[in-house]
Amino acid sequence: MVSVEQIDHCLPQTQCTKCSYPGCKEYAQAIADGEAEINQCPPGGDVTINALAQLLALDFKPLNIEYGTHQPKQVAQIMEHECIGCMLCIKVCPVDAIIGANKLMHSIIESECTGCELCIEPCPMDCIKMVTPATRAIGGPWKDYSIESADKARLRRQNRIARISDKKPSKKLASQDRKKMIQDSIKRAKSKRDEC
Ligand code: SF4
Ligand code: SF4
Ligand code: SF4
Repeated sequence: MVSVEQIDHCLPQTQCTKCSYPGCKEYAQAIADGEAEINQCPPGGDVTINALAQLLALDFKPLNIEYGTHQPKQVAQIMEHECIGCMLCIKVCPVDAIIGANKLMHSIIESECTGCELCIEPCPMDCIKMVTPATRAIGGPWKDYSIESADKARLRRQNRIARISDKKPSKKLASQDRKKMIQDSIKRAKSKRDEC
């Protein structure tokens, strides 16, 4: 009997949600439950599909491009002079790779960034871009993710989930509402400046 953990270890742990599940563990569970195919993980690509096919004694099938295409890993970088410190990116980073505080400039810890891209869309200033990493992971089955980096990302996500679930229910604005509020206030400030 193959465990969810064994399946999860075939996944590169970017936590990008491209497979249509909230993270790698949830996708692993769906495969174990027979609800998901083995070819839904773009970052894992052929390496992951081969590993899953072998583990589950299934035939290899090409990556389903409905979920995305396999691309070289990139990491996020904040254009710090444009950052307004709204913290929306911190709230969505699945592996806590962003540091910063309210109204202060934010930065990304490159070695912890999985390249999931989840921080791009919420940024009201469009000041996060994806760039080629300075160093590449070596020593793993994947070209871009080592066993060590995948293990670290899995742990960071587990810690984040544990930390968030310890907190009392938040009455703060949902991320999308907060983004809109910030964009509206930036627009108001700009139009006031233009009037002067
Ligand atoms: S790396 Fe992304 S697409 Fe692959 S299993 Fe994890 S969350 Fe899903
Ligand atoms: S910094 Fe952005 S791209 Fe990197 S892991 Fe966090 S959310 Fe994903
Ligand atoms: S979402 Fe953008 S503006 Fe807000 S803190 Fe992050 S990088 Fe800065």
